Amino acid sequence: MLRSIVVSTKEKTYLVRTFGCQMNEHDSERMAGMLEGEGFAKAGSAEDADVVVFNTCCIRENADTRLYGNLGHMKRIKDLRPDMRIVVGGCLAQKDRHIIQQKAPWVDVVLGTHNLASLPRLLAESCERPAFEILEQTEVFPSALPARRSSPWHAWVSISIGCNNSCTFCIVPAVRGPEVSRRGSDIKAEVEALVADGVVEVTLLGQNVNSYGRDLDGTPLFAKLLRSLDDIAGLERIRFTSPHPKDFRADTVEAMAECRSVCEHIHLPLQSGSDRVLKLMKRAYTRRRYLDKVKMVRDAIPGVAVTTDIIVGFPGETEGDFQATLEVVDAARFDAAYTFQYSARPMTAAADMPGHLPKEVVQERYDRLVERQEAISLASNEAIVGSTEEVLVEGPSKKNPAKLTGRTRTNRLVHFDGKGTEEGRLASVAIATAHPHFLEGRSEGMGEERSAARMPLPLAATASGCSAAG
Ligand code: SF4
Repeated sequence: MLRSIVVSTKEKTYLVRTFGCQMNEHDSERMAGMLEGEGFAKAGSAEDADVVVFNTCCIRENADTRLYGNLGHMKRIKDLRPDMRIVVGGCLAQKDRHIIQQKAPWVDVVLGTHNLASLPRLLAESCERPAFEILEQTEVFPSALPARRSSPWHAWVSISIGCNNSCTFCIVPAVRGPEVSRRGSDIKAEVEALVADGVVEVTLLGQNVNSYGRDLDGTPLFAKLLRSLDDIAGLERIRFTSPHPKDFRADTVEAMAECRSVCEHIHLPLQSGSDRVLKLMKRAYTRRRYLDKVKMVRDAIPGVAVTTDIIVGFPGETEGDFQATLEVVDAARFDAAYTFQYSARPMTAAADMPGHLPKEVVQERYDRLVERQEAISLASNEAIVGSTEEVLVEGPSKKNPAKLTGRTRTNRLVHFDGKGTEEGRLASVAIATAHPHFLEGRSEGMGEERSAARMPLPLAATASGCSAAG
């Protein structure tokens, strides 16, 4: 117990604010779990909390501007309530520990991506003086820590951390370190415990899930892991993010096709359709090899959703390179794409490359790409109008609380009428209307328990979460 913080009988509170990717959401749930283990309760707002944690990301441009804006706001509150503690964790903390110390000396604790488990100790130490600790290697695999999940029916499960690749636009290897895989038996034990606790869907997390296990056994073990988790009774859906196209292999596709709980969705980051730019990015595949992998998965899994990430305006990208990307978009018929305008990140090789493009050139190409992809996404969604989809209910729609929201196995977002449909349960939804980013429909009732055999699948699909990595 953090006795020096918990000085009154009033319940002490915390709030964790998360920026960035699913890995950060996973880590935030662990930090919340540790704080609750120390007797803290979740606060309604950062302004009211006794401990405020910023779990930061440095992938996106302006991440530091946003962080220091938030920290400036918190300083005004801390001036009024000097006992409150401000914690900065995550990738930006790993990268910029000394800068945070200089720019925001009112921060009490800084911890990096490798030492989440130190949060309670550092908070206790911060009663005496600021406690800043950044490690270069992970001391405890974060999934082994207690979690306060934001969903009772879904869980993030980390299978590996770090990355051994060196994509020239990416800062992840610098802040998350080399790839370390978690033991398969530990992963399975965690998923079994989650299912016993009511979880029906897990998302396996790694920067490059397809190389999972190479450091354990000298060979990738991801397909074997999927098969092992598929045995768990009560687990309805397994998702994963992200595979690197160069490591996406036939054995994974076979496991996806044969395992009843593995969802019919693959997020395969393309980044560029130009072989010249792919080489500059150090992605280690060509457009031909990439399209071959898309064909492999579509041939093996009827109705699979293929989604992607694309970067526009990489240094030196010509109009010809951009046209090559549009050609791959047309050929791959992605069900959805996360599109990004290149922005130079410090500590990446691409930041020092020649040929950075004017903002207006990047914007104009980006607009063309988005227009092309939106038309393809709409056509993909229209193809399933009239069918009935299995939807995992997430709760009331944020846009219209009279409706419910959920996702298909192919990760399409569906808003639907369905009174009494329970959160975390499977519903059968008749799809009535398609839009580029979501579908609308009506519930036909709760889904049947699925048998061990794979259900017949609808055509097409769409994407979710953003993976700047992979
Ligand atoms: S983009 Fe993905 S594969 Fe490439 S270095 Fe970053 S995390 Fe690793």
